[in-house]
Amino acid sequence: MNKKILATAMAGLFAGAAFAAHFSYEGQEAPEFWGDLHPDFAACKTGKFQSPIDITDAIETKQHRPLAFKYTGEADTVINNGHTIQVSFKEGSTLELENKQFKLVQVHFHTPSEYTFGGKHFPMVGHIVHQADDGQLLVVAVMFNEGEKNPVIEGIWKDAPQKHGETKPIKSVDVAALVKNFDAYYRLEGSLTTPPCTEGVMWIIGKQPITASKEQMETFTKIIGKNNRPVQKQNGRAVLVSQ
Ligand SMILES: [Zn+2]
Repeated sequence: MNKKILATAMAGLFAGAAFAAHFSYEGQEAPEFWGDLHPDFAACKTGKFQSPIDITDAIETKQHRPLAFKYTGEADTVINNGHTIQVSFKEGSTLELENKQFKLVQVHFHTPSEYTFGGKHFPMVGHIVHQADDGQLLVVAVMFNEGEKNPVIEGIWKDAPQKHGETKPIKSVDVAALVKNFDAYYRLEGSLTTPPCTEGVMWIIGKQPITASKEQMETFTKIIGKNNRPVQKQNGRAVLVSQ
């Protein structure tokens, strides 16, 4: 990823505000038009390795690559940016994969899930965004099924602003609990799933869903609405599965 593209991606990811007014999930700024909304969003239309995709066939790798999550849970803010509810973390939480360290940056949510398994959406997904010192982004996706109430979600929703564009402080979020049973996973190359749709993002998608209650998912949808980008073409990309 070159510096300019990276800077654009970061602006979209972290500042939010610069792009917040310029895309939507419905109407004239719906996902099919993202690539035409701004020159910086071109990858949404012309990119070859876009996310999400539908995962059907995956190549089994015998070599299991363990993920070393070291999350302190020390959070900073929770923002409602109009596209999602997002918690930003203080420095100090990391994820290590193949001797490379990624810093935990933020976690946000989508209803329904963006990646699908054999055409099937999960009702909700959490995207845990990490970044290495060289700028490489790694997103861990945790699928949610409807079931028991999730205490981590409970804590985030409790502090989440109802109004678009508002930020509130949040002390701690036990993000480690979201990946407690994270074992088997898919791995592929993709992109940001929101404009500017920058490519070169490593995706790690847990096979095993966790649960949140129907009410918790409805609370999110009431505040944000449906916010999943439709699946994109795989274009010959390999999808690996760890076991
Ligand atoms: Zn996301």
